[in-house]
Amino acid sequence: IPGLMQQNELMISSLIRYAAEYHGTTEIVTRTVEGPVHRYTYAEAEQRARKLANALTNKLGIKSGDRITTLAWSTYRHFELFYGVSGIGCVLHTANPRLFDEQISYIVNHGQGRYLFIDLDFVPLAEKLASSFRDVEGYVVLTDRDHMPETTLENVHCYEELLAEQSGELEWAEFDERSASSLCYTSGTTGNPKGVLYSHRSTIIHALGAAQNSAFGLSVYDVIMPIAPMYHGSAWGLPYIAAMLGAKLVFPGPKMDGESIQQLIESEGVTFSCAVPTVFTMLFQYLESSGKRVDSLSRTMIGGSAVPKAMTEKFLNDYGVKVLQLWGMTETSPLGTIASSTPEVDRLPPEEREEILSKQGRVQYGLEIKVVDEQGNPVPRDGQTYGDLWVRGPWVVAEYFRGDGGALLDEDGWFPTGDVVTLDQYGYIKITDRAKDVIKSGGEWISSIDIENLAVGHPKVLQAGVVGVYHPKWEERPILIIRAAPGAEPTEQEILSFLDGKIAKWWMPDRVFFVDEMPLTATGKIKKITLRETYKDCLRD
Ligand code: ADP
Repeated sequence: IPGLMQQNELMISSLIRYAAEYHGTTEIVTRTVEGPVHRYTYAEAEQRARKLANALTNKLGIKSGDRITTLAWSTYRHFELFYGVSGIGCVLHTANPRLFDEQISYIVNHGQGRYLFIDLDFVPLAEKLASSFRDVEGYVVLTDRDHMPETTLENVHCYEELLAEQSGELEWAEFDERSASSLCYTSGTTGNPKGVLYSHRSTIIHALGAAQNSAFGLSVYDVIMPIAPMYHGSAWGLPYIAAMLGAKLVFPGPKMDGESIQQLIESEGVTFSCAVPTVFTMLFQYLESSGKRVDSLSRTMIGGSAVPKAMTEKFLNDYGVKVLQLWGMTETSPLGTIASSTPEVDRLPPEEREEILSKQGRVQYGLEIKVVDEQGNPVPRDGQTYGDLWVRGPWVVAEYFRGDGGALLDEDGWFPTGDVVTLDQYGYIKITDRAKDVIKSGGEWISSIDIENLAVGHPKVLQAGVVGVYHPKWEERPILIIRAAPGAEPTEQEILSFLDGKIAKWWMPDRVFFVDEMPLTATGKIKKITLRETYKDCLRD
């Protein structure tokens, strides 16, 4: 028989409505693109999101189901777009401005956004690409009248003027929670990027799941600064989660260098942050050279690529910051697994416990994982046997936007992540590699991630990337590419001696190369594809 409870749809607008009503005086702070730090409250944010919604409908003629694209940093105006656009049944496509030009044109066209909302510093980029945009009818520059630039773009509006003309009167609509709310593309290291189309329902359930104490472990007492940009997995859901909790939010805007980040952490009392490892490498460099600290910060979430142990240790020992490693994908909204502890793990001897908590983590309620061998059989939970990782749950992609890539899921609804992992008895996964990065030497697997993590533990090493390249006898052998720490000049021999004894003999890289710049992807990860291409013939002779 049917239950007799209310059937409200799960709407993204309910988050901002709640925050405005019950945490109306809590601040949202932004380092703006124009320069100064801007601050206002959840109540003001909601009011402006309503004005934006009215402007979209009344002024720009946007209708339910239409897409709006952004090329924008994490700021309060982008935050208003997160709510104003989905609040009227439209879809916010957060395009990554750091992609190559052709990829930006591709995703803007693929997403079919009718208007492009851009930050001031992306105006030149939009001008350059405008002739390639097929569906863009006009542009909105995210600034005020005084900062509006001269531009060759056609049908250009000023964001602040659009809002100023509108009333803040609007009832947020309730509609089917399965409706699309936002669109985010995977960075497509091979082939074209693919669109992941989130719904109101998936966004809210992800926010509820991720806010659990054993997941992100956040509360209204936290001051949350996502450094992961809003165009990378919606800043890992934090613009939604913070509103759900009524927690203070801090947006770094365009400045993600160590000095700017440290200043904001200190001046705003940030307690919780998140980013890919490369961002924190830059932060450490600044902290070390300036002697500055990040004393308010108690936890930080790091993910997107493996977190080197040296980074976790430095954070904890030198700065008193606890690192939470997250594994996730654009396809998982992005929370997949998180390396939080359990009472059982806490009872283990310290070394064993540390080892487990340095892995990519375990699932929290809401998501399921399976790790299987090539025949599809579950691998033993022994922390040793490699297998393919599959995930399933209400915040996991079912198919890509506009059908790209065809059917994705297996017959039981599992999504193949393309990651190769081990699973231990406590439920923690450890990523060995992305399937396409796996190194197979003489038929045996070598984990590039393990070698990289060890190498960055050397004081003279800033970044390390390991790739497999062709070898006449072993098919593939690992090589190690290093960007040295500032002022340091490590030698190949020094690095190899450092690794010696810490990894199996046959895992030892055949060569070590040094570079001035590490190639990075648009989301700040080491670009293995470029490394493989550059060094592909280095072991041929
Ligand atoms: P892209 O970087 O291609 O834009 P995503 O950000 O969605 O796309 O990347 C997801 C992938 O990043 C995962 O499949 C995995 O390979 C890798 N990844 C994410 N988090 C971690 C982690 N903590 N450790 C190792 N790899 C990770």
